[in-house]
Amino acid sequence: MAMKTIGLIGGMSWESTAEYYRLLNEFTRDRLGGLHSARCVLYSVDFAEIERLQVQGRWVEAGEILAAAAQALEAAGADMVLICTNTMHKVADQVEAAVSIPLLHLADATAEAVRASGVRRVGLLGTAFTMEQDFYRGRLEAGGLDVRVPEADGREIVHRVIYEELCLGIVREESRAAYRKVIADLVADGAEAIILGCTEIELLAGSEDSPVPVFPTARVHAEAAVRAALRA
Ligand code: GLU
Repeated sequence: MAMKTIGLIGGMSWESTAEYYRLLNEFTRDRLGGLHSARCVLYSVDFAEIERLQVQGRWVEAGEILAAAAQALEAAGADMVLICTNTMHKVADQVEAAVSIPLLHLADATAEAVRASGVRRVGLLGTAFTMEQDFYRGRLEAGGLDVRVPEADGREIVHRVIYEELCLGIVREESRAAYRKVIADLVADGAEAIILGCTEIELLAGSEDSPVPVFPTARVHAEAAVRAALRA
């Protein structure tokens, strides 16, 4: 079985990239059995540098860093590239334009997984960038979904927990309870499923915290990558 090499731009944060690595290997073992593991290359950036550029709105510079990472992955033999964060898909076009290998877009993989489950109306949790700007929501909507986000105070909590806790490996029961409340409000607003649209959220919350199905995006992305890597 010819397996393609998966290229990962990670480190945003490394807490979720470690999860990607585990999931890629688990899905590969599940598919191929025995001692099989995922053929992959990881380029892990310094997240402090990226986060500073995000806050300052210097997206093109952040995009240059990720584009250079993608080129290094291509040179190292990667057959495809994944940006292991929803937020940094803000610069997905810049990254895609820098390489000749395909970019496996996280919003496309997510929209496809949601559609396959028969759901159209979803609630989206993520960073403020992901929840409030168009680069991610717009792509989900183009993929056929009707997207709702939390009210301002809910968005503020969800965003703060990501940067001040989850990206630092801190998992708090109070934060899980706060996420449950935000999810319940989205469901009351008509959401039939919840996209955990930040790759660290699944380290805190899962299906047990939601009355409707959840779509954890690191898992959805890793699964799509293994499918692509094993496609004949
Ligand atoms: N990993 C997160 C995401 O999926 C947030 C970290 C970042 O700002 O890239 O959006």
